[in-house]
Amino acid sequence: MKYTSTRGAIATDGTPQSFLQILLGGLAPDGGLAMPEHYPRVTEEELESWRGLAYPDLAFAIIEKFVDDVPANELRALIQRAYTPEIFCNTESGRAHEITPLKTLEPGLHILELSNGPTLAFKDLAMQLLGNLFEYALARSNSELNILGATSGDTGSAAEYAMRGKCGIRVFMLSPQDKMSPFQTAQMFSLQDPNIFNIAIRGVFDECQDMVKAVSNDLEFKTRYRIGTVNSINWARLAAQVVYYFKGYFAATQSNAEEVSYAVPSGNFGNVCAGHVARMMGLPIRRLIVATNENDVLDEFFRTGVYRPRRSAETYPTSSPSMDISKASNFERFIFDLVGRNPAVVAALWREVDAGKPFSLAGTPHWAKIAQFGFASGASSHADRIATIRRIHQEFGVLVDPHSADGIKVGLEQREAGIPLICLETALPAKFAASIEEAIGCAPPRPKGFERIEDRPRRFSVMDPDVAQIKNFIADRAAPAAGR
Ligand SMILES: *Cc1c(COP(=O)(O)O)cnc(C)c1O
Repeated sequence: MKYTSTRGAIATDGTPQSFLQILLGGLAPDGGLAMPEHYPRVTEEELESWRGLAYPDLAFAIIEKFVDDVPANELRALIQRAYTPEIFCNTESGRAHEITPLKTLEPGLHILELSNGPTLAFKDLAMQLLGNLFEYALARSNSELNILGATSGDTGSAAEYAMRGKCGIRVFMLSPQDKMSPFQTAQMFSLQDPNIFNIAIRGVFDECQDMVKAVSNDLEFKTRYRIGTVNSINWARLAAQVVYYFKGYFAATQSNAEEVSYAVPSGNFGNVCAGHVARMMGLPIRRLIVATNENDVLDEFFRTGVYRPRRSAETYPTSSPSMDISKASNFERFIFDLVGRNPAVVAALWREVDAGKPFSLAGTPHWAKIAQFGFASGASSHADRIATIRRIHQEFGVLVDPHSADGIKVGLEQREAGIPLICLETALPAKFAASIEEAIGCAPPRPKGFERIEDRPRRFSVMDPDVAQIKNFIADRAAPAAGR
């Protein structure tokens, strides 16, 4: 499998690249995102033989199709070390040793549990594998990586828990001081691993993000200190997420003649893009239902064909904060497929986006093909998610978090008779206590081991939003690249 860019050139010399070549990279030199040259098609025989596989074996069968420069036995070992009951069966979901179990609310209505990993959000499923892949790739090239990131909550903690103790990797994670939930703050700041650096910035998330961009744009510094990222455009994260769409399908159906629909709480379009990839590989998915919160840029696109990224000032802080995104970074990957994989068209559209302008595909031949991709969409408000949390709790005795509630609300609106609906659970309620109390009048239960995380000793630094300071901080702790 070789990779190309959504805008044409994945490498400076224009040649396609291999999986390991794109693993550690961010954007392609032309600003585009890495995409496989074609989607591997899954045959009926393969689908049949995958039905009974345990999670790590299924993950290997799928991910192997996207990787041809890691020997099979080594890839299998990296995958098996990531997907273990010790890492992914943290909570008492009933089925003690199953990874991503399916919970059935009523016949034809299910929740796929993706949040039983170390940080209680679905991002662990991709990030844990990414940690192993990074460590492997760095050892093979005898190099090191300093990951610099900005987080408003879930991504930062998933990255830190995946990279802690990994050889050759340091993590420098910026977060806005006192802006994350108390649970999220405790989860991150209590890590004592010497390769993890939490830096609370006296400012807001955008200022953290701007600091990361400023450091990344200093190419001399970036090269000298081997600065990398783990953001949601990383292809390996997406490939890892494809797996649970297959897992959920097998759990909700008896035979491969059946179809299912998925409801997906969406922000950066990473999760649902993995569903799109699974569908393109041949998994019988009828609909991919994109759920947004009040930040409804994706819902607007699927309803109208107009993509209108919002400015920061028009991005609202909501009670499903991990979906407060108005420029969905992975969306370019779907548009690439929608426009017939024509990089010139994508490049032209994103010239508009990068200039802060909307684009419209309405009335074009591209938009005429939208139906064949199976997307549906809807938006959810604070009142909707509170009502949904309450209703699912009352009717089924099941407690869901505000993000998963957005997905369930929109999924139920779009549900079709006779088609199983699988709603993806993207985080556990314990992370978002305030909304749960508002909905049901009492606090969410804490999974075992998380009871008193607020009381643990903390290890973090505090800094002004000052690019020179963060550069000094990194330079003091990171070994410069060899030979300099
Ligand atoms: C990241 C996140 C999302 C959004 O996922 P995308 O892949 O960015 O679309 C939804 N819910 C939770 C809890 C998240 O952490």
